[in-house]
Amino acid sequence: MKVVVTGGAGFIGANFCRVLSAESGAEVVALDDLSTGFRTNLDGVDATLVEGSILDRDLLDEVVSGASSIVHLAAIPSVPRSVADPLASHAANATGTLEVLDAARRAGDVHVVVASSSSVYGRNPELPKHEGLRCEPMSPYAVNKLAAETYAGAYAACYDLEVLPFRFFNVFGPLQAAGHAYAAVIPAFVDAAMAGRALPVHGDGSQSRDFTYVESVTRVLREAVVRRATSASPVNLAFGSRTTLMEVVAMLGEILGRRLEVEHLPTRPGDVPHSQADDSRLRALFPELSPVPLRTGLERTVAWF
Ligand code: NAD
Repeated sequence: MKVVVTGGAGFIGANFCRVLSAESGAEVVALDDLSTGFRTNLDGVDATLVEGSILDRDLLDEVVSGASSIVHLAAIPSVPRSVADPLASHAANATGTLEVLDAARRAGDVHVVVASSSSVYGRNPELPKHEGLRCEPMSPYAVNKLAAETYAGAYAACYDLEVLPFRFFNVFGPLQAAGHAYAAVIPAFVDAAMAGRALPVHGDGSQSRDFTYVESVTRVLREAVVRRATSASPVNLAFGSRTTLMEVVAMLGEILGRRLEVEHLPTRPGDVPHSQADDSRLRALFPELSPVPLRTGLERTVAWF
């Protein structure tokens, strides 16, 4: 079995390549332009890294040839970056996904897992987020992801392509980059806490998220690939918990054994106030899988830093 992982040198991608190569015996090919990923993320992983872009059609055809599945994770994965440069986000996230789906169509008999995002629910306040809710994107990134998963469904309908679009929620864990302006919240918190700085909290910290430890995600992705699981409609990939940013700060303080200072910053445009997955579709597809608890995930993330 050959599996192509686009964005395979990134945070989720490299964690997934490691699990897949170690546990499934698959031939793993990571395709990554190293724009936010790192070659070193794949150190010690039995995977071939092809450096290049998903927007390079000839390269995609070459890499996808003979593959059983593509796990499409490559993207510019940031709401604020999409607000700063919507055209670049659209090219990588929407057009890039279309290129990957079309390469799969040209190759024939390739199963495609697509990374979408909980951000598609946007300003729709209903909780928990079930996949039938109306999507109300609040950022160019969310629009890109809605386009990506909708293209996947359309390719299933028009070309019988086997697809599985997942809506990831807030994934965190080892290899997630911190210390830059667009860092996700947990690595930004852990980075600040380890350096003795105040933790940057946008708004009052009452915003809540369904934080998902990366191993919980890679377990699902591995099962999806091994079983060639399909769904033309999107599936939430989170397990239905909800934690506020201030609760994460408190938990980190307990793990590190000290009180952590917080610096409140202005809220950011495009950020949604609350997020929590309805996980019934996920559980129906993968009934045997259970998540790593948040506290355990945070402990492992702190240990990795
Ligand atoms: P990441 O930035 O670590 O990984 C993305 C990878 O894609 C990087 O290695 C980057 O170099 C690569 N890439 C970007 N543009 C490319 C291109 N044109 N061609 C080839 N490679 C390219 O981010 P991540 O957190 O691992 O995200 C992986 C996927 O999951 C993304 O699609 C993201 O939108 C989605 N997602 C992530 C989260 C999360 O919480 N981390 C939440 C929702 C959705």
